[in-house]
Amino acid sequence: MHDTSRPPHSFQAFLFDLDGTLIRTPIDFAGMKRSVLDLARRYGLDPDALNRYDILGIIEEAERQLEAAPLPPPFRAEAERELTRCEQEAASVAEELPGAIEALTVLRARGCAVGIVTRNCRAGVERALSRVPLPHDLLLTRNDVRRTKPDPEHLLEAARRFEAPPERCAMVGDHPMDMQAARAAGMFAIGVQTRDPSPDAFHSSPPDVLLPGIGDLLTWMSAPSS
Ligand SMILES: [Mg+2]
Repeated sequence: MHDTSRPPHSFQAFLFDLDGTLIRTPIDFAGMKRSVLDLARRYGLDPDALNRYDILGIIEEAERQLEAAPLPPPFRAEAERELTRCEQEAASVAEELPGAIEALTVLRARGCAVGIVTRNCRAGVERALSRVPLPHDLLLTRNDVRRTKPDPEHLLEAARRFEAPPERCAMVGDHPMDMQAARAAGMFAIGVQTRDPSPDAFHSSPPDVLLPGIGDLLTWMSAPSS
């Protein structure tokens, strides 16, 4: 029977980015990138050539280049240790973004599966969640999947675990790469403007719906759909 109390966009699962979407942490991404480039330099690689990648991309590419060596050095392990240290430090002062806990609680009460899909490391996320208890059914960090966002694999793995078809999943995030991953996965893309409130924040990868913040999600869902 058709349930008229629910909008046409009734999703089986909601996937959420963590940083800048559900919580605020003072992660110094620029500083982390500098540390990883510095490490690459110490391993004899050209940091200028690696600079165009994002942090995880630098590790990927550096590892690829180093694999050719007769004895591949422990670059990834060392880079991961440095990132984990920075992320754990930031996680220890994590704060809820207004309305995040309420939104997740209500979605779950309505029968939606809630997943957190983040490029952060598991140790850092667990520390953040001990400060900000975000209700969720699934957590997929970068340690849990082979390919992270913007690769759709990160999101599709969550959908698989929920046994939800991608078209019945919504991805909520504050970064264009969240929207890029959602599109590539065939999911509905909801952007939140927490990180960058400018009109062209999602210029490179426009969402299906743009909200000021996570606190506006429930209001949007209860609004009559056009
Ligand atoms: Mg984010």
